[in-house]
Amino acid sequence: MGTTEIAVIGGGIGGLTAALAMAQRGINVAVYEQARGLAEIGAGLHVSPNGVKVLHALGLEEDLAQVAGRPRSIVTRHFATGVPNFESAFDDVFDARYGAPFLSLHRADLLAILAKAVTNEARVQLTLGSRAVRVDEDRAGASVVFEDGSRASAAAVVAADGVHSRLRANMHGGITTKFTGHVAYRGMASTAELPVGLVEPKFNIWVGPGRHFVAYPVRRGELTNYVALVEEEGWTEESWTTKADNSVLAAAFEGWHETVRALVSHTLRGQCYKWALLGRDPLPFWSTERVTLLGDAAHPMVPYLAQGAVMAIEDAWVLAASLASTPDAATAFSTYERARLERTASIQTAAWEQGQLNHSVGRGDDGDHFQGGGFSDPSWIYGHDVVAAFP
Ligand SMILES: Cc1cc2nc3c(=O)[nH]c(=O)nc-3n(C[C@H](O)[C@H](O)[C@H](O)COP(=O)(O)OP(=O)(O)OC[C@H]3O[C@@H](n4cnc5c(N)ncnc54)[C@H](O)[C@@H]3O)c2cc1C
Repeated sequence: MGTTEIAVIGGGIGGLTAALAMAQRGINVAVYEQARGLAEIGAGLHVSPNGVKVLHALGLEEDLAQVAGRPRSIVTRHFATGVPNFESAFDDVFDARYGAPFLSLHRADLLAILAKAVTNEARVQLTLGSRAVRVDEDRAGASVVFEDGSRASAAAVVAADGVHSRLRANMHGGITTKFTGHVAYRGMASTAELPVGLVEPKFNIWVGPGRHFVAYPVRRGELTNYVALVEEEGWTEESWTTKADNSVLAAAFEGWHETVRALVSHTLRGQCYKWALLGRDPLPFWSTERVTLLGDAAHPMVPYLAQGAVMAIEDAWVLAASLASTPDAATAFSTYERARLERTASIQTAAWEQGQLNHSVGRGDDGDHFQGGGFSDPSWIYGHDVVAAFP
């Protein structure tokens, strides 16, 4: 597509990965982010091999190796005794099968790596403090309209403006949400303040009645991240910035294994957030002639398969490849959408089902027989290789 300029709305994981992938294919990109700085909350992020393959192909392998953890396995444990009832290794065989490792990251570390790479790209122009409200499009191009009334023109626009996407609402109207009944509390503890070796370098999950608790080390093991999923009515706000009180969490996890309780009590000050988990059905389409959606804007999903950011990363690769190999944006957007819509819809649905499963077993108080939700074979997710499919 040569020097055609693409405007990307949103400088999150999806928007920055898309900007980097497009620039590397010779496309000039302008990224507009509403926040005054590029920042992420103190929370962890799992990136499975299907996403890591893309990040490696974008040249980020060395930077990732500096900060990412490589969990040895995924393990589910009894909520009170901590005794494992399921474990599956992420070993060399796993890496070879999928062509990349499974990584645990601090969200801010991934965003910083992407921001550095994007900043080093002469083809990317980043503007902060610009909130897009709509895009006007005609046969000649697109014009992004910002909240302050200013405009920016581009040949086409990628809306990577997240779960509450304004540009998706312009395309589809408000979309219906369904509350899972679960609230995710996310926190970080300093590993040095915890008993030595408390949390194994694994994707650890404790499963109990009406709750489960996930913990893993991030940032070279310096921090330990947790996500506590709690059945809770009356709170339905999705927000990256709503702070939670970890003493509420301590009460919710009374009687749970000492590792869980120690993590909650050592939560870094101001580093506990709450997010109500809402599901949304797949959209029927993502693109007009000049605008397409990417990441959570296109396929918001509940996080039970840890695939939201990974799907945004896959989207970014496919979109860049489609734009680079097609003379006009409308054709590229339709190639991209055809390659992505069905896959992401299946994952949206599977993630919702996993969430139902996670809390459907052992709701009673017979903790000794608690088995947890169980996991199905992830090879259809992890084995998908967009880098090979769109060289
Ligand atoms: C509890 C929880 C745990 C999760 N764990 C994982 C995991 O382990 N692995 C995984 O892959 N995914 C996980 N996810 C999902 C993942 O966080 C999201 O899928 C991912 O952040 C989506 O990236 P995005 O770039 O599409 O959107 P966002 O990260 O939301 O970025 C959107 C950006 O657009 C900007 N923006 C918004 N509106 C405008 C506007 N009008 N104009 C300009 N800029 C705008 C925002 O400020 C933001 O910077 C989890 C989600 C939750 C809630």
